[in-house]
Amino acid sequence: MNTTYSVSDSCRVCGKGNLHSILEYGDMPIADVLIDSTLPKEQELLIPLTLVWCSDCLLLQLHETANPNLLFNAKYPYLSSISSTWLNHCRDNVESLIKTFKLDSNSTVVELASNDGYLLRNFVKHNIPVLGIEPSSICADIAIQNGINTRTEFFDSTLAEKLQTEGISADLVISNNVLAHVHELHDFVNGVKTILNENGSWIIEFPYVIDLIDGCAFDTVYHQHLCYFSVHSVKALLDQHGLFINDVQRLSTHGGSIRVVVSRKRDIGKSVTDLLEQESTLGIINERYYRQIAEDSKKVKEQLCKLIDKFTMKRQTVAAYGAAAKGTTLLAYCDLNWEKISFVVDKNKKKHNKLLPGSRIPIFHPSRLVSNQPDACLLLPWNLKEEILTEQSKYCQHGGKFIVPLPKVSMI
Ligand SMILES: [Zn+2]
Repeated sequence: MNTTYSVSDSCRVCGKGNLHSILEYGDMPIADVLIDSTLPKEQELLIPLTLVWCSDCLLLQLHETANPNLLFNAKYPYLSSISSTWLNHCRDNVESLIKTFKLDSNSTVVELASNDGYLLRNFVKHNIPVLGIEPSSICADIAIQNGINTRTEFFDSTLAEKLQTEGISADLVISNNVLAHVHELHDFVNGVKTILNENGSWIIEFPYVIDLIDGCAFDTVYHQHLCYFSVHSVKALLDQHGLFINDVQRLSTHGGSIRVVVSRKRDIGKSVTDLLEQESTLGIINERYYRQIAEDSKKVKEQLCKLIDKFTMKRQTVAAYGAAAKGTTLLAYCDLNWEKISFVVDKNKKKHNKLLPGSRIPIFHPSRLVSNQPDACLLLPWNLKEEILTEQSKYCQHGGKFIVPLPKVSMI
């Protein structure tokens, strides 16, 4: 038996077997799990990565499920409070949630995968009781130190029942960028239903499959990210649990996301019917809609490699910015490694002096962009372009150029 991953021919939502292959990445490193330079290349773990699409419930999903123990990165967790663009989005989001759902000191807000409390702290400022559930102790400890009520646990239906017996009844449940990572989808939804009170709302944010396909964001596909939802496919999941999507909103975060508001009561707004109709018009019920990402990503790979080769052939240096999961996918898919990219910089100091998996590019502090002044820098978190360009204005002023890989290869 393979202990690193499993492959199922049943859809993660509807359980049927009509899965169609959309994009094969081949053997890929585990994004986000940085490696020590002493680890020999042949000992690095590679797991196949394949996007498949279900023609019954329309869910785009990974064919492989990597062993969750291999994906959990306890030593170098993703701290949500690193990006200021993201923090501003969260603050504004909370302000509008408080108004929309009329939350006050008698309400209860529960967040699943609450990270270091970056979102919940905005409710705490308004004296609204909160409970964060976070499996990573490093993240949870930061939240607890900052006075945010947090439990270091993994959320599932068993924990939900325990919370219910303790009297937790949520007016608002928030799960931002969680659903796509969940292995046991039906158990997770059951759990939320258990803690959500009769009039409560569940806010789910996730990267939107339409933005993935239309924006050719093939780099947002990695082993941690099991499902790529449309409104149609998330509805197919929630329908099975008697829950209703009453509102939807498209967001610009993470290169294109969507927020859905779910409740036990049916009150389906025009935003939902409109977006369902838009999805149908785009052709999301057809396999060929999804297949366009395979063509587009191949073109991006060709153009990007050609551009980077121009620099390396002139013996000029190319570096990269952002040692995050999507960067690992982009570099591995495009066969770009340490021979072409000299180093990558990242603000998270826990990542410094490690190597990116697969490409084995060393990670340093962002100040190295100015001290080494590489001729070009590949911007891996291209969705944070404005923020990073402002932050790295010194590098640009000294003649440094940024290569933006997506949605189209360009140079700034
Ligand atoms: Zn399905």
